[in-house]
Amino acid sequence: MKVEYSYLLEQFKVEEGKTKVKYVDLPKQANVEAILSDIKELLLKTGQFTLGQPVTEFEAKFAKLCKTKYAIGVNSGTDALFLTMKALNIGSGDEVITAPNSFIATAGAIANAGARPVFVDVNDEYNIDADLIERAITPRTKAIMPVHLTGNPADLLRIMEIANRYNLYVIEDACQAVAASIDGQPVGSFGIAGCFSFHPLKNLNVWGDGGIIVTNSKELFDRIVLMRNHGLKGRDEVEFFAYNSRLDSIHAIVANQLLNVLDAITDTRIRNAKTYDDALSDMVNYITIPPRKSKVRQVYHTYVIQARERNKLGAYLAEKGIEAKVHYPIPIHLQEASKYLGYKEGDFPVCEAQAKSILTLPVHQHLTEDQIGYVIDTIWKFYKG
Ligand SMILES: *Cc1c(COP(=O)(O)O)cnc(C)c1O
Repeated sequence: MKVEYSYLLEQFKVEEGKTKVKYVDLPKQANVEAILSDIKELLLKTGQFTLGQPVTEFEAKFAKLCKTKYAIGVNSGTDALFLTMKALNIGSGDEVITAPNSFIATAGAIANAGARPVFVDVNDEYNIDADLIERAITPRTKAIMPVHLTGNPADLLRIMEIANRYNLYVIEDACQAVAASIDGQPVGSFGIAGCFSFHPLKNLNVWGDGGIIVTNSKELFDRIVLMRNHGLKGRDEVEFFAYNSRLDSIHAIVANQLLNVLDAITDTRIRNAKTYDDALSDMVNYITIPPRKSKVRQVYHTYVIQARERNKLGAYLAEKGIEAKVHYPIPIHLQEASKYLGYKEGDFPVCEAQAKSILTLPVHQHLTEDQIGYVIDTIWKFYKG
């Protein structure tokens, strides 16, 4: 059956020059002068543009943030997932359980590692439904890869319990969830590894692509350190054939500077989300905000609602200069790329229904109170006239 989700993104485009509320505001990047000055110093003093001291420094700080023993900088969140699976010998003949509503990179990394992505439907928090995981486990299952979608931690306590019982790895796709936690324990530190992205759209962004893996396993750490750099043990000796996926020093410099303001970024996003939550929870007939759990720190990489007449609302917001998006309009199991996996429409009803009603509102840290108020008023106006 043909999927009919793809008309969306075009429809929600704000006309050139008419934007009142941007979806992101990268030119407002914090600490630009400090970053440029550190880059200049790198150039003049060491010229060490790959790996190097800024990377080592960032890895140490990021491991501390995640309360893990180790962190390994790599060149994207996708590579973080891919290299972790490779290092754990997950590949041909193996299955990895994950959610069908993620960014395509999650399933893509599994497939490119040579394993088979096995999807499990999601819950009303847009995260993998822990109740459905067990029935997806087969003798070929090697790992569960929960995605902390929107910056909201998946149900890691239950997922860890299931994984331990079946002797499976948990690899956390924490690409949207830097600084999120459950009861004070940071995401990324629950499973054998946590994978993060610093893509420009993520809460902690670098000026290009970047990613990191955190782990408490010395063995995994040692293996990925070699794996990201051709399997090179020293300058000349290669232990095994591997990849080139290093984190660049310039990106680590950006990341180090932004780590200094990560709390402010995160707190502002949480505050913005709370403003939306409070205003939109009055509109129960039209808008559904996700259930919120106590003791969980959600970091709102995205602020996702379900909206009645979503397509019309998105187009209306665009007309009024508000950039809204859909994360993501086409579930992964219905993508052309997934055809060989044999899934069909109807396999994951919650995920599919959400894909038709979810809408992402701007929640970034540079929004003003007036802008948030304008978004809320505009939504009211759409439904109430
Ligand atoms: C962004 C993202 C990735 C991939 O990260 P990149 O750095 O863009 O490769 C993987 N999974 C999820 C859930 C993401 O949001």
